[in-house]
Amino acid sequence: MSERSKPPVSHRGSAKTSRASTAAKSNAPWSKRSLGAQALGRIDEATRAVVPPIHVSTTFIRDADNQYSSGFVYGRPDNETVREAEAILAMWEEAEAAMLFGSGMAAATSVFMALAPGDHVLAPTVMYWALRNWLMTEARHWGLDVELVDTSDIDAVRAAVRPGRTRLIWLETPSNPLWSISDIAAISAIAHEAGARVGVDSTVATPVFTRPLALGADIVMHAATKALNGHSDVIAGALASARKDAFWERIVAIRKNFGAVLGPFEAFLLIRGMRTLDLRVRTASASAADLAHRFVRHPHVGEVLYPGLASHPGHDIAARQMTGGFGHMLSVRVRGGEASAVATAAGVDLWKRATSLGGVESLIEHRASIEGPGSPCPPDLLRLSVGIEDPDDLFRDLDRALARAHG
Ligand SMILES: *Cc1c(COP(=O)(O)O)cnc(C)c1O
Repeated sequence: MSERSKPPVSHRGSAKTSRASTAAKSNAPWSKRSLGAQALGRIDEATRAVVPPIHVSTTFIRDADNQYSSGFVYGRPDNETVREAEAILAMWEEAEAAMLFGSGMAAATSVFMALAPGDHVLAPTVMYWALRNWLMTEARHWGLDVELVDTSDIDAVRAAVRPGRTRLIWLETPSNPLWSISDIAAISAIAHEAGARVGVDSTVATPVFTRPLALGADIVMHAATKALNGHSDVIAGALASARKDAFWERIVAIRKNFGAVLGPFEAFLLIRGMRTLDLRVRTASASAADLAHRFVRHPHVGEVLYPGLASHPGHDIAARQMTGGFGHMLSVRVRGGEASAVATAAGVDLWKRATSLGGVESLIEHRASIEGPGSPCPPDLLRLSVGIEDPDDLFRDLDRALARAHG
């Protein structure tokens, strides 16, 4: 934090002070929306600047008595700009600790690598494809016994848990690309009874619409690349933990030793992006709901997958678990099969034909051709990441592309 730019004598132990004051601030009467807009209200003490400087130093002066009382030793584990971004994320997730990584994949895989060989892990059949691939291939080299289960089905989860052997249940809700909903509270109860932790990829839900830790989860993960940053210009990942326990400390060590860290410039951009998180995701979620309701009646659309629709199989749980919105992601199944879906994606103008999600610009993607064999994604599905453009324009553009593809 800002004290770092003051003369050394005045900032002894400031790393600890800055964390303590962050914790105090998150208990202030201000809402998360207010705290988020001001990036926790931190200023640069030296200049009174409302935007703290970017800390780039990779190394720090050691005290004459051989100590590092600043709490900063070396840039790989220690960077103040990264810590500022982590404090903001901890505030959003109501977490005891948060940690940033060089990507969402680095954040997620660090959780699995903190397990021990032989541990049994449950993960969803419908989930972010790159992580599922890693779990099905690489994770085995770590000795993990990974089993995929339909986590939207509580009975299936209960049946798959092996008490004393299952150490982690991984959830993603809503999950790519069908936006399946898993019941975080119910599954956390099952997991804890069996001695397992629950990790939730909450990238799509965002901290604005779902509070996984308050629902009983132990760890929350985000591809901060997506809605947290929101501007499609940073690759970053994040974890937030309910407790600073031994498992968390193992993940801290893994990030440090594998060097899966985020750079200070990316952390700065992320802080800037998170200032408008609440505004962006509420606007995008309202537009996604609007589009879902309009496309569900569209003659060239067979099905709309969006947890905000009463017809979605996860709607009832989503309505309980998500507050304030159902998120900015939906999928449409185009009548006429894969060829029509691909032709529709080819015909858009305002929507951008690209992978990824959570940015201010709306993206459209034919998902099955990206995910490849083994994917539960139907070939006629187009994934839509709704941004903050005028929803009437988004509707008109896609409506026209659907008409042309069926012309
Ligand atoms: C993008 C994404 C990831 C991976 O994040 P990267 O920053 O690309 O490594 C993980 N989970 C979900 C749901 C994602 O959308």
